[in-house]
Amino acid sequence: MTVYLVGAGPGDPGLLTVRGAELLRRADVVVHDRLSAEELLDLAPAHAQRIDVGKVPGHARVPQDGINELLVEHGRSGATVVRLKGGDPTVFARGGEEAQALADAGVPFEFVPGITSAIAVPAYAGIPVTQRFSSTSFTVVTGHEDPTIGEDGSVDWDAVARVGGTIVVLMGVGRIQKICDRLMAAGRPADTPAAAVIWGTRAEQRTVRATLGTLAAQDLESPATIVIGAVAGLDLAWFERRPLFGRTVVVTRARAQASSLVARLRELGAATVEIPAIRIDDPADGGTALRSAVADLAGNDWVVVTSPNGARRLLAECRDARAFGAAQVAAIGPGTADALREGNVEADLVPERFVAEGLLEVFPDPPPGGGRVLLVRAAEARDVLPETLRERGWTVDVVEAYRTVQGTPSPDELAAAAEADIVTFTSSSTVRNFLAVCDAVPPIVACIGPVTADTAREHGLTVDVEADVHTIDGLLAALVVHLTPT
Ligand code: SAH
Repeated sequence: MTVYLVGAGPGDPGLLTVRGAELLRRADVVVHDRLSAEELLDLAPAHAQRIDVGKVPGHARVPQDGINELLVEHGRSGATVVRLKGGDPTVFARGGEEAQALADAGVPFEFVPGITSAIAVPAYAGIPVTQRFSSTSFTVVTGHEDPTIGEDGSVDWDAVARVGGTIVVLMGVGRIQKICDRLMAAGRPADTPAAAVIWGTRAEQRTVRATLGTLAAQDLESPATIVIGAVAGLDLAWFERRPLFGRTVVVTRARAQASSLVARLRELGAATVEIPAIRIDDPADGGTALRSAVADLAGNDWVVVTSPNGARRLLAECRDARAFGAAQVAAIGPGTADALREGNVEADLVPERFVAEGLLEVFPDPPPGGGRVLLVRAAEARDVLPETLRERGWTVDVVEAYRTVQGTPSPDELAAAAEADIVTFTSSSTVRNFLAVCDAVPPIVACIGPVTADTAREHGLTVDVEADVHTIDGLLAALVVHLTPT
């Protein structure tokens, strides 16, 4: 079937186009380069074949002819093939050659443009490639061709210099001295602002600011986008000023739940390491107790849910929208209330403090004849809720909706965690299980609330950040305050 030549954008996975994401989600085969973000490959279905034809600088792992043949062969097989390329597929990416090979072989193909690093990487460093009056054009040029070759089929550096405006050089690190020399020889002043943006749009982004005369003497590495011209002197930095920029944060939640926290951390500029310290599993009885509790859900005055996982498991068992009857519903915090809302159940009661004690403060007393509470929770929860409710005269049924068991992080994940700056804990079980699998604790420990923080302290950790509001937002806000110099 069709081979899609898709631009992956420069590195930030958010810079993939909607069309690109759509195609990745239904790809049978993904042929990708070294610079494609891992997260993008995760968009492809589990069954999709992922083929890395990444070029390590200097030598091609799979020669271009081999890549062309691979695309033709998979295209002919009837598979939906995504050829994922960094940036835009037609900008110094040999997308044209691949399309030609497909056209010659009669295999249908489509270009799916991407966001090119030539524009996006400078933008992430706060450098617009044009600016009214001072920079009215931009020239994107490869630095990979030897600037000493001269005019014969190669870049005309004198002409590039004369055009004026902004010069954006891709693949230029290896020959940066020659390039700068040629541009100066052609009349560009040595004090022209110049910048190199290394690993742009990624958490590792580094911007080196210099002049045309001094850029080559700086500590540069690939991949870098080099910008020369007045705009390189503008300092509109924003990405590198995000509150968690430059920090690596460990997320210890179960894999299925980590994504929202990971996304939020990235938005704050952090690099993230996921250590799935816990895994959410069926309760010991396989869910029998939960199923029979759901069969008589309407027989309760209150259904109390103490975690988003509990909410989801409960709702998954409710096959009939009327199951709750007139029972009222209490959620321990907004995260749990949100999980209930996803199943169209609006909690009647959410306390202001999102811990068991907070719920007890606002929970009503039973009616004169007594009343029933169903408590849906994790197997390893604290007993303060059922005990106190019973003391107050409620009949309480406790049902274990799930169990958290120790996760199994990979050796790579553990090695990355050992290098991280911050670890976040969102429940006591994440603390216990993280310590069980990981020897090295990052220097800054951040906990979602007092119960989690107490568990961390009991295990000998020093808690640096304890959220006032016991939600993911509260945790992140407290972390940002902790890291912001006063
Ligand atoms: N098709 C790609 C360019 C491929 S050439 C595009 O449109 O962006 C590869 C060069 O792109 C690198 O040598 C570097 O100059 C630039 N580049 C790609 N990703 C980059 C990144 N994340 N940060 C800085 N430069 C990058």
